[in-house]
Amino acid sequence: MPNPYVKKVLIVGGGISGLAAAVALHKIGIEAEIVEKELEWNVYGVGIIQPPNALRALNEIGLADACIKQGYSYPGFDYYTGQGHFMVKGDSPVIEGYPGVNGISRRKLHEFLLNAVENTGTKIYMGSTVNKLEDVSTGVQVELSNGISAVYDLVIGADGANSKVQKLLFGDIVQKYSGQGVWRYTLPRPKEVDRGLFYYGQKAKAGLVPMSEDEMYLLVTTHEPGNPRFPNDQLHVLLKERLTEFGGAIAEAANQITDPNQVVYRPIFTHMLPKPWYKGNVLLVGDAAHGTAPHLGQGASIAIEDVIVLADILRHNFGVEETFKVFMEKRYERCRLIVDNSDQLVEWELLTWNGQMNENINVGKYVYETLAKMNEPFLTEVNT
Ligand SMILES: Cc1cc2nc3c(=O)[nH]c(=O)nc-3n(C[C@H](O)[C@H](O)[C@H](O)COP(=O)(O)OP(=O)(O)OC[C@H]3O[C@@H](n4cnc5c(N)ncnc54)[C@H](O)[C@@H]3O)c2cc1C
Repeated sequence: MPNPYVKKVLIVGGGISGLAAAVALHKIGIEAEIVEKELEWNVYGVGIIQPPNALRALNEIGLADACIKQGYSYPGFDYYTGQGHFMVKGDSPVIEGYPGVNGISRRKLHEFLLNAVENTGTKIYMGSTVNKLEDVSTGVQVELSNGISAVYDLVIGADGANSKVQKLLFGDIVQKYSGQGVWRYTLPRPKEVDRGLFYYGQKAKAGLVPMSEDEMYLLVTTHEPGNPRFPNDQLHVLLKERLTEFGGAIAEAANQITDPNQVVYRPIFTHMLPKPWYKGNVLLVGDAAHGTAPHLGQGASIAIEDVIVLADILRHNFGVEETFKVFMEKRYERCRLIVDNSDQLVEWELLTWNGQMNENINVGKYVYETLAKMNEPFLTEVNT
């Protein structure tokens, strides 16, 4: 029987968590509508790292196999010095039935999620946002920028790092600039790059991530004090400047960087919203609640887990308040682990590049143990 209290849901944001939420809710008989601020989908072309827990969560909405089939799976990463001397092979912790890592193009992941949403018949209002949220006795009165005004039983704020829903609920929340930026560039995948590769330089970290039979992406993490803005037409030059210290496969990749429009640069901001991530009948999920540095490749994984867990609780026919309480119990510490440990990795990288890293710290072990923890079950029993 579908949840008797939650029949009409609005999802703000049609990104990774918003689209996944619509599919997960449809599966349990709850129809949702999505409001997306962009007029057209505009997902950039680089890839995303999917650890096993991301695939396990996607499997709940039937999308893991497609990601594995159309992405590129491998057991883990090889680690090199900046100059290209091999250091160590590191296989990632696995969940039975899933690869250690799957790389996939963001556009492909979006395509799979959007197709799944379209198959449910979910209405999507493109080019619109939410202007007003007001608790009323029957739910949440919502005013959209496209003129629609309606009452929903539950609203999900899945509108990413600069969430408007978060602002409407809790006012301005300061995001922390990490001091780092990440540069990415898509390249043809040479056959020998059949695992992820990471190169630890004196001033930066560079990696190659396979994302299909034919493609991989270069990712470079750098110290960018003061969060500078770079001219778009110079991005390729600036990226290449940051790669001059690297040898091996990274130097070869650097030679292929020619097009400023192919460079995707993002300054890294992080934030962890204090508990609870809800007010009245409105709940925040994904980056709107927990924006993590990408060092563990877990941001999208925990965003997808959020909405799968939400649907699982609603399946037990709880009302909204009880659902949100149980949700916080299941999600807060798990997401905090990722945000905190990723912040820690950022700090260690900055110390290393400043010549101040404590030699006794074992970064590989820290990463492995954090990822292994995320492989523990996330859909735990809901006590009714
Ligand atoms: C450099 C970098 C590398 C990363 N690499 C990885 C990785 O390898 N693996 C991984 O798991 N994660 C990675 N992440 C994190 C991952 O991209 C995010 O955690 C994930 O996209 C969060 O999903 P989301 O649905 O919360 O937000 P998003 O995917 O950002 O979606 C938000 C959606 O809401 C829409 N929106 C925004 N504001 C409004 C509004 N006011 N009204 C309506 N709609 C709105 C947006 O247009 C967008 O469609 C990386 C992040 C960065 C910055």
